[in-house]
Amino acid sequence: MKFCPTCDVRLKKDSNTLVLTCPKCNYTEGGPKEKKKTDVQEVESDFLVVGENEGKEVLSTIEIDCENKDCDSREAVWWMLQTRSADEPTTQFFRCTKCKTTWRNYA
Ligand SMILES: [Zn+2]
Ligand SMILES: [Zn+2]
Repeated sequence: MKFCPTCDVRLKKDSNTLVLTCPKCNYTEGGPKEKKKTDVQEVESDFLVVGENEGKEVLSTIEIDCENKDCDSREAVWWMLQTRSADEPTTQFFRCTKCKTTWRNYA
């Protein structure tokens, strides 16, 4: 048995919606939980760029020609990323330490 927190009146239960209602102040409680919105689509991307502030992992550098043709850097950090499907191979990503261009290793 539940009572209204403000009026101390016994709450009436709606047998259909299972919502408890105070007959005095119309306070309601319980009932079916609100459905989570399903229209929020998860943005799926297999090309995850490591944010500038993500300094948790220390990325190793590799000597590689930058993908950006305007950049003459030969040093990039790299990391591996497993895509969602376990069947797919792990993808290697590079990011130029100079111009921050990020690309993946298709090999
Ligand atoms: Zn009440
Ligand atoms: Zn570069």
